[in-house]
Amino acid sequence: MDLIVNSLYSNKEVFLRELISNASDALDKLRFLSVTDSALLKDAPDLDIRIQTDKDNGIIHIIDSGIGMTRQELIDCLGTIAQSGTAKFLKALKDSKDAGADNNLIGQFGVGFYSAFLVADRVVVSTKSPRSDKQYEWEGEANASSYTIREDTDPENHIPRGTRLTLYLKRDDKGFAHPERIQKLVKNYSQFVSFPIYTWQEKG
Ligand code: ADP
Ligand code: MG
Repeated sequence: MDLIVNSLYSNKEVFLRELISNASDALDKLRFLSVTDSALLKDAPDLDIRIQTDKDNGIIHIIDSGIGMTRQELIDCLGTIAQSGTAKFLKALKDSKDAGADNNLIGQFGVGFYSAFLVADRVVVSTKSPRSDKQYEWEGEANASSYTIREDTDPENHIPRGTRLTLYLKRDDKGFAHPERIQKLVKNYSQFVSFPIYTWQEKG
């Protein structure tokens, strides 16, 4: 985690690009599977990405109506840093340092899910796969080596299908929860995403 934070510190805003790209991948997977199984769409017909900001509390929600994750997929995909795209990034970073190269790796590689911890000290992922009738919640903290997974039965958290990430921003990074900041990042980094991206802010 220190390595990620140190090597990306000046580029920490890439977290949003990474998380939007994961949302977009999840929507692509759902769209692909729905060609042969249209019932997959029934719980949430719209394929989109919604970013909700709460600037007073320094919280960002990134919600997609994509394929979601089963409990096992949460373990396999987000469970440890070693299984995520972040691990590939770290390996490439190490290889390029060994080779004495000074490449712009951030441009070339996806940094992955764990880039959320560049700006957040706590991340909660609530997700519902159409292949499971249960919704699960993954929770991890920047300075903890473990994570928790539990069934999410809170009706207020219910999502028909897909994934909602909640980022509890670090004290010095709460500025990212300003809607203008998010809109600017979306415009700069995610203009070629093929699903609509809506942003809105919580009423103060
Ligand atoms: P990569 O995108 O390169 O696979 P990431 O670290 O960004 O690596 O993500 C790891 C994995 O977690 C993804 O491959 C995917 O299986 C899962 N994942 C992450 N975000 C989402 C999401 N919003 N919806 C569904 N699955 C996701
Ligand atoms: Mg990714």
